Amino acid sequence: MEMTKCPYCGIDVAADADYCEGCGSRLTPPTYAQSEQAAYVQPPYQAPYQPPYQAPYTAQPPYQSPYQPPYQPVYVVEKPKIPGRGLGIASMVLGIIGVVYSFSLMIETFTLSDMRFFEEEFFATLLGPILVFAVFPILALSFGGVARQRGYRNGVSTAGVALGAVAAVLIFLALIGVLVNL
Ligand SMILES: [Zn+2]
Repeated sequence: MEMTKCPYCGIDVAADADYCEGCGSRLTPPTYAQSEQAAYVQPPYQAPYQPPYQAPYTAQPPYQSPYQPPYQPVYVVEKPKIPGRGLGIASMVLGIIGVVYSFSLMIETFTLSDMRFFEEEFFATLLGPILVFAVFPILALSFGGVARQRGYRNGVSTAGVALGAVAAVLIFLALIGVLVNL
């Protein structure tokens, strides 16, 4: 028997052997049927992957016109509209004025001499101003209250209401002083 060596493990095997007795490797080329089967199981033809066409990138920065600063209209100072702000500030101012005047009127009232009640300018110098300056706490309280109702709740409107209340009390005391002395 013609002998040959297994190309895989090197032992002597029969030249016409299909498989090596040592390592079991196939020594003969596959039969026609096998090769046909092998051809059959070949995966279907697949074209080599071609990425979709992409035009070569040419770097072109987007068109930029020469620099032109954005149009800016003539700047107009536009105060942001804060609801109740004007009334709140007015309330505080009126409250300050009301406290100052009502306090001085109250001091004046309680330091009166009895003689003065019969003077001609009594109403002009005391009772009149008391009634006139009673407007300040009334307005301070009203404006402050409305301002806070409209959402302007801060130190300004609080001061307006508080000063208005203080001025109202002082005016009331001044009026009491006048009435008691009458
Ligand atoms: Zn072998």
